[in-house]
This record gives sequence, structure tokens and C-alpha cells, in this order.
Amino acid sequence: MIKAKNPLVEMDGDQMTRVIWKLVKEKLIAPFVDIPLEYYDLGLGHRDQTEDKVTHDAALAIKRHKVGVKCATITPSIAQVQEYHLKKAWVSPNGTIRSELDGTVFRKPILAKGIPVAVRSWKKPIVIGRHAYGDIYKATELAVPGPGKVELVYTPASGAPERRTIHEFKGPGVVMGIHNTEKSVRSFARACIRYALDQKIDLWFSSKDTISKTYHTFFKNIFAEETAAHAAEMAQAGIHYRYLLIDDAVAQMMKHEGGIIWALMNYDGDVQSDMVAAGFGSLGMMTSELVSPDGCYEFEAAHGTVARHYKDHVAGKPTSTNSVATIFAWSGALRKRGQLDATPELCAFADRLEKAVLDAITEGTMTRDLARLTHETADPPRESWVTTEGFIEAVAKRLT
Ligand code: NAP
Ligand code: MG
Repeated sequence: MIKAKNPLVEMDGDQMTRVIWKLVKEKLIAPFVDIPLEYYDLGLGHRDQTEDKVTHDAALAIKRHKVGVKCATITPSIAQVQEYHLKKAWVSPNGTIRSELDGTVFRKPILAKGIPVAVRSWKKPIVIGRHAYGDIYKATELAVPGPGKVELVYTPASGAPERRTIHEFKGPGVVMGIHNTEKSVRSFARACIRYALDQKIDLWFSSKDTISKTYHTFFKNIFAEETAAHAAEMAQAGIHYRYLLIDDAVAQMMKHEGGIIWALMNYDGDVQSDMVAAGFGSLGMMTSELVSPDGCYEFEAAHGTVARHYKDHVAGKPTSTNSVATIFAWSGALRKRGQLDATPELCAFADRLEKAVLDAITEGTMTRDLARLTHETADPPRESWVTTEGFIEAVAKRLT
């Protein structure tokens, strides 16, 4: 039994991923690692009961203990508020935790030998660094009902206001005001540089500064300043920084072999990370790591609660949901705990766990989403895939 020196913040979640969560903990973690877990139940029912206080408490716990691991959670839609008789449409727990930690989200695909990737040139992971603050995610929007002038007004703490006309409407339309802060963009740039140095991979940043000469250029300039400030370290690590226009970068990416981190503004990161996940094969093979500027880490699978599979599970039908990203969230958190506390045995266990998962897949034990890729058909033969439980059992067997 490997003993950890400090606790891990554990955040439970919803639906199919909650089912997987329990299995992974019971079969792959508890028998091998003795680690105190500070448990927060972010399942929708408990969030509703506590009026979402539990999410805020969990975020504060990550700040205290530095490392957390999170299960996927439901962000309730209006329909789900009625379906589950919720007090209100609670906001995304991930959004709450991200704002509390001012973190950057890194999404990294997991490559397994034998699983073909959709984009043939991709040989190594493309890590997406998504800025997780502001832009359209903190926008103020207004439907313009009819003719009139819309302005942008800055009223400084002291001094005269500054105004710009957005548009003189001749009829109905719509406007949106978005913002970002220097502090947040700078810590985003630093987090990306730290990640690139850590992993010894090149860093790209892209935006549309040719069109957005103030807003996007603001980001571009900060990246230029921060990479210049870290030039010596980057040279020593043998890594490079490149700025590309977003449309150029998208095209380049299709021809690239991977092994880079691609830093993106909030919306671009949201969209491109799903493109990259799909290009590497399956949503079940993408992990997500939130890194705060003061060195807190949260690990999770990048996918959601896999609602459709959960319906089958509840109906008593067998499921074949991929648990790889969830297992890698645990191994990532354990490795980070081991690194922060100088417990190399814990890091070695994380490596062993990941190897057991990848070996199982390479030797042909896989869930249906991966069998679809190896068999190049939407409906692979039954003998080509195992159930949700079967996969986790197979990994457990390899660990013992
Ligand atoms: P999802 O859980 O990501 O699943 C969408 C589809 O992708 C699934 O139906 C499945 O396709 C495939 N898929 C995703 N993960 C898979 C896995 N591990 N193994 C096999 N296939 C996988 O998205 P959703 O069902 O649209 O969203 C469900 C809930 O998740 C929503 O309430 C949303 O708010 C929440 N969500 C949470 C997070 C988070 O907490 N990080 C992130 C995103 C969404 P097939 O059905 O074709 O097999
Ligand atoms: Mg998204």
C-alpha cells in the first residue's frame, strides 16, 4: 500500500460518470493507495440542497490542499430544473471553480497504440490551453428593439468619460459587450508558458488581431511580453513560441504532427478543444487540467456525464462507457500530489495505472467508442468491446 502525505480534494458528480467514479475508486485506487480524501458531493441533488454552497466549499478546499479531482457534473437546463424540481438553474460548477481559482484549462488527448486517429498527421498530443475567463462567457447582451444609437462608455474612477459609437441602428438588431482584464490574460500567458516548459513542448498562440486591433491585439502583446520575459528558460528547454492568426493556425494544425500546446482565447478554446478531441478519436480519451497562477491543480475528464449511456444503465441495460479520461484524472491528481509532496512512489503508481490502461487497450480490451475506431464502423461486433465494468475490471487485474 502506497501512503500519501497529504489529502486530495475529491468532487463527486452525476449520472454515468458518477457510476464510473465509484468503480474507479473502489477497484483502481483504494486497494493500492492510502490517501486521505476530502469528499465533496457535487451531484446535482446535493448542490440543490446546499444552494450550491458545496461547490464554493470544494473550490476553497482546492485552494487549501492544492490538488483536486472532479467527476463530470450536470449544468442544469431549464427543462432539468423542472424535471428534478430544483430550486433554480444552478450555474456550471466548472465555471464556479474556474473563477475561484482564476485558472487556465489544459485539455490533453490520450493516445493509445492501435487506436487510429482521424487526422493522419497527428502523432503526438495537441494540448489546448483555453483561457477560462471573460469574453463572451461574461458578456452583457442587449436586444435592440428599433432605431437608436448604441455606445461604449468608459467612466473612469476620476476624469472624463470616454465613448465610442458601436452602431447607429436604423431598425432592430442586437449588441454585446465583452471584457477581459490584464491580470487574467497575463496569468493565462504565464500558465501556458509554465505548462510548455514543464512538458518541453512548443507553444502557439492564435487570435484574430488583424481584425480586432485593440481587443485581440491586447492578448497578442501580452503573450509577446511574457514569452520575451521567459526567453532564456524557453531556450534552455529547447522550446519555441509562435504567434499565428487563428485561421492560419487551424489550417496548420491539420498538417502538424502534434506535440505542442495551442493557447487560445476562451471561445476559440471551447470550440477547438472539441475538434481536437474528435480528431484524436473519442471524447472518452481527453483529460482536462485546471492550473491556477498560484499553483493549484484540478483534474477531470473533458467529457460530460454521458447522459444517454446513463439512461441505458438506469433501464438495466449493459453500457460500454469509456472510463479512460476519468482514470487519467485520478492518475494525474495522484502524480501531482506525489510531485508536490516529494512522494515518488505515488508518481510511480500513477505511471503504472496509466500503463495498465493503455496496455489493456493495445491488447484489444476496449469500450465500444474505441472499437468503432479500430473496426471503422458505427456498429462494431459485440466481441470487439467490453462493458463499462468489464474495462475497469481488466485494468484492475493488470494492476495486481
Ligand atoms: P457528454 O457527456 O460529453 O456526451 C456526449 C456523447 O459523447 C455521448 O452521448 C457519447 O456518444 C459520447 N461520449 C462522451 N463521453 C464518453 C465516454 N466517456 N465514453 C463513451 N462515449 C462518450 O455530453 P452530454 O451527454 O451532451 O452532456 C451530459 C451532461 O454533461 C450535461 O448536463 C452537461 O451539462 C454536462 N457536462 C459536464 C461537463 C463537466 O462537468 N466537465 C462537461 C460537458 C458537459 P454516444 O451517445 O454516441 O455513445
Ligand atoms: Mg465546450
